[in-house]
Amino acid sequence: MRKIITLAALCLFLTALLTANRWLTEKIRSVSEEAGAGEGETVLTATADGKADAGAKGSGRVVLDAGHGGADPGKVSEEGVLEKDLNLVITRRLAKELEDAGVEVILTRTGDEGPGQDQAEAGSRKLADLKARTERINEEYPDLAVSIHQNSYPDPSVRGVQVFYYSRSEAGERMAALMEKAFREGLPEETRVRDSKANEEYYLLRNTEVPAIILECGFLSCPEELSLLMDQDYQEQFCKAAARGILACMGK
Ligand SMILES: [Zn+2]
Repeated sequence: MRKIITLAALCLFLTALLTANRWLTEKIRSVSEEAGAGEGETVLTATADGKADAGAKGSGRVVLDAGHGGADPGKVSEEGVLEKDLNLVITRRLAKELEDAGVEVILTRTGDEGPGQDQAEAGSRKLADLKARTERINEEYPDLAVSIHQNSYPDPSVRGVQVFYYSRSEAGERMAALMEKAFREGLPEETRVRDSKANEEYYLLRNTEVPAIILECGFLSCPEELSLLMDQDYQEQFCKAAARGILACMGK
């Protein structure tokens, strides 16, 4: 009898231990830079289950977030083109397109700076930067936040534009589909429009309280696509298509 009680107690203890472990695994997630592997830091953060997901709120406001900046160049092409610079150029052009269409546009950065980097220690600048951008977005509470980036891949033939959305956000998924459609309709045939993709890890997607997407405009590692992205006519065509997508997301 005593043996049975001891066994039962042991079973209970193990079950409790397993449950606690599962809870902890759910709560603790590894968060990294928008690109994921390599350059990000690992931090602890709560899951974003409570994220608001009502879709367009009708504020008429959009936040455009030019990725990287300051001490963080983002991706760097073989020729030395910095992602942070191209992100800002495209963000400014896109802001102009939207403003011309009557949208109130808020930028998380307007120059070569990384929001929140100054106050942070060297090792935690990346996270402080992402936090500051996310806080700004949550304060402004726009209809939609678009974070603008450039991609990179070891194989130089890989190219294309791609939209990422938070895997638990229906509004994000809907908006990514509208953006993808606008790119398919508005970009030249040589541009590959990739299927939009769900993501569960990107800090900004996880922690914004409004629908957010990450727009990877193209691959800096593909020479043909890089020259397109640097070309002012293409930039204009690209931003017109992106603006049409954003307007569709806002129900305009
Ligand atoms: Zn980036």
